[in-house]
Formats: sequence, structure tokens, C-alpha cells
Amino acid sequence: MIVCVNCNTKYNDNEVIYTCKECGSVLEVDIDIENLDISKDIFDCRKDILWKYKEFMPVDETKIVSLDEGGTPFCKCDKLGSELGIELFVKVEGSNPTGSFKDRGMSVGMTKAMELGVDTVGCASTGNTSASLAAYAARAGLRCVVLLPSGKVALGKLAQAMFHGAEVLSVNGNFDEALEAVTALALEKHLYLLNSINPYRLEGQKSIGFEIVHELGWESPDRIILPVGNAGNISAIWKGVTEFYKAGFIDSLPMMTGIQAEGACPIVNAFRKNTMDLVPTENPETIATAIRIGAPVSSIKALRAIYDSNGFAETVTDDEILEAQKELARKEGIGVEPASAASIAGLKKLVAEGIIDKGEQVVCIVTGHLLKDPNTAINACVEPIEIDADVDALKKVLLNK
Ligand SMILES: *Cc1c(COP(=O)(O)O)cnc(C)c1O
Ligand SMILES: [Zn+2]
Repeated sequence: MIVCVNCNTKYNDNEVIYTCKECGSVLEVDIDIENLDISKDIFDCRKDILWKYKEFMPVDETKIVSLDEGGTPFCKCDKLGSELGIELFVKVEGSNPTGSFKDRGMSVGMTKAMELGVDTVGCASTGNTSASLAAYAARAGLRCVVLLPSGKVALGKLAQAMFHGAEVLSVNGNFDEALEAVTALALEKHLYLLNSINPYRLEGQKSIGFEIVHELGWESPDRIILPVGNAGNISAIWKGVTEFYKAGFIDSLPMMTGIQAEGACPIVNAFRKNTMDLVPTENPETIATAIRIGAPVSSIKALRAIYDSNGFAETVTDDEILEAQKELARKEGIGVEPASAASIAGLKKLVAEGIIDKGEQVVCIVTGHLLKDPNTAINACVEPIEIDADVDALKKVLLNK
């Protein structure tokens, strides 16, 4: 069953619908946890992908479109953690098939598309959604249309969307404008929209929450920190941990902590005013293009997650993002794209501000792979030294430092 998060109006699973017909709010898929009589032990003998939790995925099991997404690394980061006086784990979502967590949502969303029998799928994207959609549409054999804000998409993401055969349209406008345009096309039924306004996307992404508490031996961490753009992922992870709580698999819940870039921070602004009312950022700007979003569609769900979990929301600057990106790469060997590093930059800031207590167990989600945005990575480094292939030349450079 699909339910409106605002007015509770219920819709049939097989209705193609993105927002509530009564009030215009966003929708959520309701999982009947009470009648889901399963033991958590059944997950252990299954392959380590998101479909391991298939009982919690509200789609037809015979129609699954998958690239074995999920089951991503969960790395304990002792160097960074001990410097900050906390216990730190990093969930490396760049290890998904196309290099971001979007694959989790796309697997479930594309499965739903097959169930509904659509022939065309589409999205607006800051990059990773299009890369993922293009790959999963290829796998499913469906036509794929993606709208990208002109000149603002990182190179690796653009390469993926084009190479997997999507029809790529470069839009004169930002992400929010592109999303509005493609949503209008979807409402006229020309394509099935697989942005995170589609509640089935979040059903896949909630598996990040499942995996974290499972990895921790059926315990919730004190806190989960992640970058927030369109605000789907923080909502999805909260839904995941809440479902496992309701199922009796864990007995506490994490403080959901969202980090935004200073130039694109409507959720943080609402949090600071302790309200649910979102004032969109008119011209969002940040080097972290994946979170360069001014009007997050899942703001209600995200703010509820933050308030209900006694969590927090904070901004970071582009400089703080780039510094955290480098620190994670050099101290822990984990290469992430700029938006992902917002979680680490936010962690550092919240420890400094005393919001995060010493000894807390914290999980940072790093959302996308370093190679998504090779230009930003190269620009942050000094150029390689040019040298002859000669042992004396090597010694001169390497031993005389
Ligand atoms: C999509 C994305 C985000 C933002 O996630 P939302 O669900 O839009 O809040 C953050 N980082 C990366 C790498 C992404 O691809
Ligand atoms: Zn409604």
C-alpha cells in the first residue's frame, strides 16, 4: 500500500502515482511489519546484496532487476576516529555497481517499473541518478531519458549515463528546474519517473540502514551522518532502521544527522528554526554537485527523521568538504566524491561544536566514488614530476628530499 505522509490517504500498489492527489504531499510505501512473521536469522545464509532483505522489499520477486547492489564495505576508521575521540565506521557506498548508493534505489525502482510494464523510464539528475538509471534501464531493456543541468555534472557520471545508452538531455537550468520539467512529462504518462520522489526508490535505499544495524550485530549505532541533497536518502535510512526496530530486530534507534553545503542548505535552515516549513534556496551552489539542490522533494520525511530521532542538521563549506575528502583518502584510503565527504566534514564540525559526545559510535555514509569527479580530484593535487626513466634521475628526486 502507498500512503501520503501528510494526510494519510492510501493508494493501491499498482497505481502510477508520485504525489498525493488530495494534498500534493510526498508518498511512502507502507510495509506491514506486524504481519511479517520472520526471524532475523534467515538473512545470514543469503548472498550479501540488498535482496537479502527481500521480505522488506514491496515488489514482485520474479521481476527483480539487479546488478548485485548493496552489501557495501563497512570500514572501521580508527585513525580518524581516535583523533576525534569517537568510534567511527564508514559505509562505502561508492562500492555499488555504478559507484553510488543510487543503485539500491534503482534496483527496486526498476523492478517496480517491470511490474508495472512501462516501456520508458526517466529522471532529472545531478549525475549519479542518471548513471544508475542508465545502467539499470540497460539491464531491464527499457528506454531511458535523463535530464542533466548543463555544465554542472561531474565527468564520470556523464560518461556513465551516455555509455549505458541513455538519451541524455543537457538542460539550461539547475537540477530543481530539470526535475520540475521531467515530472510534468511523467504526469502526462510519457515516462516512469525514477527520481527519489518515487517512493520505491527509497525502499531500496532503506537497505543501507538494514546493513548498518546487521553489521553491528543487531545494534543501532548512536548516530548516522550523511550528506543531504534531495533528502531521499536520509529519509530512506530512517525508514529502514525504524522498520527493523518495529520488527524487534534492534531495540534502539540512531540520531539521524544531515549535512548540507553552505550554498545549498534549506533543510539546515528549517532545522535551525525548528520548523517543518522549507524555504527553497534559489540559486544553490557548491563544489559538491551531488547535493547542489535548492528544493529537496523529501524535506518533510527528512525533517521528521531528524526531529523524531533527536538528530541534527549542519552546514559545511566547500573548503571543509575538500579538506575532509583529502583526509579520508590519505588517512584511511577511502576515495569519495566531494558530496560524500560532507559527512566527514560535518562529523568534524559537530565534534568541535560539542554536539557529538566523546565515545559516541558514529557511522558516516560516504555516498559516491572518488572517480565520479576526477576533475575535482586532480585539481586538488600538485602535478606529477616529469622525469627520465633512469635510476640516477629517480634517486635525485626521491632521496634528496
Ligand atoms: C544523490 C547523492 C546525494 C544526495 O542524496 P539525497 O537522497 O538526494 O539527499 C549525496 N551524495 C551523492 C554522491 C549522491 O549521488
Ligand atoms: Zn495527502
